[in-house]
Amino acid sequence: MTASGNTPVVDVIVIGGGPVGLAAALYAARSGLEALVLEPRAGVIDKACGEGLMPGGLQALVSLGVDPPGHDLRGIRYLAGGRGAEADFTAGPGRGIRRTRLHRAMLDAVEAEGIEMRALAGAGLTQDDAAVTVRTEASGSRGPTLRARWVVAADGLHSPIRRHLGLGSAPRAPSRHPRWAKRYGLRQHYGVAPWGDYVEVHWGAHGEAYVTPVADDLVGVAVLSDRRHGPEGHLDGFPDLRERLGGAPVMTALRGGGPLHQRTTRRVAGRVLLAGDASGYVDALTGEGISLGLAHARAAVAAIAAADPQSYERAWRAATRRYALLTRSLVQMSRPALGRKLIVPAASALPGVFRVAVNELARPIR
Ligand SMILES: Cc1cc2nc3c(=O)[nH]c(=O)nc-3n(C[C@H](O)[C@H](O)[C@H](O)COP(=O)(O)OP(=O)(O)OC[C@H]3O[C@@H](n4cnc5c(N)ncnc54)[C@H](O)[C@@H]3O)c2cc1C
Repeated sequence: MTASGNTPVVDVIVIGGGPVGLAAALYAARSGLEALVLEPRAGVIDKACGEGLMPGGLQALVSLGVDPPGHDLRGIRYLAGGRGAEADFTAGPGRGIRRTRLHRAMLDAVEAEGIEMRALAGAGLTQDDAAVTVRTEASGSRGPTLRARWVVAADGLHSPIRRHLGLGSAPRAPSRHPRWAKRYGLRQHYGVAPWGDYVEVHWGAHGEAYVTPVADDLVGVAVLSDRRHGPEGHLDGFPDLRERLGGAPVMTALRGGGPLHQRTTRRVAGRVLLAGDASGYVDALTGEGISLGLAHARAAVAAIAAADPQSYERAWRAATRRYALLTRSLVQMSRPALGRKLIVPAASALPGVFRVAVNELARPIR
């Protein structure tokens, strides 16, 4: 750490200690950069998530020395009205991992690397040609002011730093584009042995439920739809899944997130780089968020190490393009009732196409 005036300067301040922020700090440390992570929430953090890590994301995680326990995933299975279609991953297995286990393993790796974490929220920032000054808050009160040569903002779907920098852009108006009605996600866990090694996506009348095995005795169910259900309505519209769960005990509190679709105009503002959900998000339907965020973290740190922030903008676009295209197409296709009815028959009639689409999302993101 060096000093500018009285304020010490680190190489990188990472705002947000979720999986993407912690990965950015680990990549920074491996590049010989000193990183400081700001995360206001203490300890292991749980979050609404489908918890299926695609093969490419799992490989990235393991290459960072993080290998949390979970349940191997062989591929994706679509189900609707008694019909089904499945596609196996060709790039090795994915893994269903409880968020709490993932976060614990990442916190341990960060600690082992000697990276400092501080219980502070990033509250705003200013920057000049040489560094960024970050204002912080601790439990709603003013915290210390910190300086870094670079900032990676990985502060999640509703990123306060993205808002502060004016980098968000309104989603297309639902009234003009009904296909882009706001979508929300809800997840809960059931105490039952997984009945397979696939992530199952159940296509219901008004949304999708996807089931991820995360341990030998636990499956997670995430429901995505444009309706905001309470706990009672959670599995309405998925009678086959309800039957499959067979009254298994609910093991976790219901957690929600959304609206899922978040657009950004740019990912780089001077010395500040947005990564993970903070940099924009399409939908949870393809279970790609963590894998993509890990690729952002790696690319952001590479750009910082090269002192070439604009190269991150290009890398971000390259990493995000195919995910955004496939996810957007799938969500749009499913919006009309007819499209929704046709998805599973189409996947089953065209297994080659389905396999290619699944493996486009599953492969490592460069
Ligand atoms: C219902 C649902 C299902 C999903 N299913 C999957 C799936 O199966 N597979 C998959 O890969 N992805 C899935 N995702 C997406 C995945 O959860 C996210 O992409 C992933 O968590 C992004 O990580 P992140 O670190 O960018 O953000 P987060 O995990 O949200 O972490 C952001 C962190 O920033 C902190 N923070 C916020 N504000 C500040 C601040 N001002 N200062 C400092 N810190 C701050 C927060 O406390 C939080 O810890 C799903 C998402 C939803 C909603």
